[in-house]
Amino acid sequence: MEFTYAAYRDLITLLRNEGYRFCGYFDHEGNDKRVILRHDIDYSMERAVKLAQVEQEMGVKSTYFVLLRTDFYNPASKRTLDLLRQIRDMGHEVGLHFDEVAYRDCGAETLGEWIRVEAALLSEICQSPVRCFSMHRPNRLTLEKDLQVDGLVNSYGEEFFRDFKYLSDSRRNWREPVLDIIRSGAYDKLHILTHAFWYGDQEETISDAVGRFVRSANLERYDQMAENIRSIEDILHRSEV
Ligand SMILES: [Zn+2]
Repeated sequence: MEFTYAAYRDLITLLRNEGYRFCGYFDHEGNDKRVILRHDIDYSMERAVKLAQVEQEMGVKSTYFVLLRTDFYNPASKRTLDLLRQIRDMGHEVGLHFDEVAYRDCGAETLGEWIRVEAALLSEICQSPVRCFSMHRPNRLTLEKDLQVDGLVNSYGEEFFRDFKYLSDSRRNWREPVLDIIRSGAYDKLHILTHAFWYGDQEETISDAVGRFVRSANLERYDQMAENIRSIEDILHRSEV
């Protein structure tokens, strides 16, 4: 499968043709074939919005998990929050993407407490309930623990990780042939994680995708400086970046 919006549309069409109902973490009960689409926003809110628009055009709702403690984006900044609200206003669910690395010194037994704190904070920031969470780069112990947090659904909980067939494009690589598995009809319950960051209008290599993102950061930083410093052209012209 290519990492393009066209290929992602085909994935949705295939799921639909194979009789899967699109659901989330709160309406997955039933005996029919169903699929939960999940997206972890690791690097870019802009890319998440694009994929959310593709899904909206296809009449599909999914869940977007947002990091609070990351250097890549700030969900509380006006620009990013506007994008996040766009995703929510399309009808998608917003969940917390939790990076346990930030709490390494706090002890594993307090993780649940911190997840609750971050979920409440994200909920305040985006002014809508945050009801579920996913782990960012979880270690094996955390995964196996089947972490239960009051009032929140753990997308890595046993129910969604074992009862559902879990498929992921982590590191821009489907470890299993996702399209063949959908076509096989072997699983009534699918849980598919995609990272919007990897998808674009054109297929490109992983090096090109990462390189383009890294290089674009210079101009982004320049534009942020321009908003905060008067007459930036007198100091450094945009063409010099
Ligand atoms: Zn992640």
